[in-house]
Amino acid sequence: MTTDASAPAWTEADLTKQLATDCAVRPGDILLVHSSMKSLGRVEGGPQAVVRALMAAVTEAGTILVPTYTSPQPDGVFHHASTPSRTGLITEAFRTMPGVVRSLHPTHSVSAWGRQAREFTDGHDRTSGLGAKSPFHKAALAGGQVLMIGCSMTSCSLVHVSEAIVRTPYFGVVFYPGYERTLTMALADGTRIEVPPKDNPTDSAGFTALQAELDRRRLITHCRLGAAACLKFSGRECLAVAVEMLKADPTALLCHNERCAVCPKARELCRPTGR
Ligand SMILES: [Zn+2]
Repeated sequence: MTTDASAPAWTEADLTKQLATDCAVRPGDILLVHSSMKSLGRVEGGPQAVVRALMAAVTEAGTILVPTYTSPQPDGVFHHASTPSRTGLITEAFRTMPGVVRSLHPTHSVSAWGRQAREFTDGHDRTSGLGAKSPFHKAALAGGQVLMIGCSMTSCSLVHVSEAIVRTPYFGVVFYPGYERTLTMALADGTRIEVPPKDNPTDSAGFTALQAELDRRRLITHCRLGAAACLKFSGRECLAVAVEMLKADPTALLCHNERCAVCPKARELCRPTGR
């Protein structure tokens, strides 16, 4: 989407109103938000204004979670308080807002604000990055809605939880370099925690198949925020359909790009063994 420089900028008040009307976000809602700042067009106040609008829409009775992922650092050390999010401008603005807590994970930390922020982020170092009982999973089970702002299902981390639930044949395999190492988390109080490799990311380009299936079942609300096309759906329903698809065919959410670093190898692992 291109940004029209002559169009008036969206204000925080515009965005708050759109969230309530077009996107049907209510006070008290739990939102799992993935976002692309550039998809909104020009916003007065930038990503901070988008974050404030989201907070105003759910109020302190609600909860917002965003991915604040980090690549494995060259020295293997993740600084909990300062390593910036690599998952977009809105997520980094969110992470640095007052009252936001960040879960403890060297690559897949989630930041959260609101009533259940601590409940959802606690214990992330002891569970798994994107698996069972990870922050997004807990939020989905508590009735959370996923809001994709200017991005598609291919950015929806919650879907990886379904791969962990079904334990697909490719689950846990290291596909990307850097994830085979033990990583260190350095906390603000000086504590250092070693994290052996266990949460290995897979590809998500094939999640378009899940989006098509959810659309076919009319489980996705298509709405707008600023100039961004958004998707909104129930986290629980998204997971249920993804699990159903993977149980029927463990390759259901793999992509068909021959040069993908993950999917061709993952598909091999899904072949029935035997002669
Ligand atoms: Zn792929």
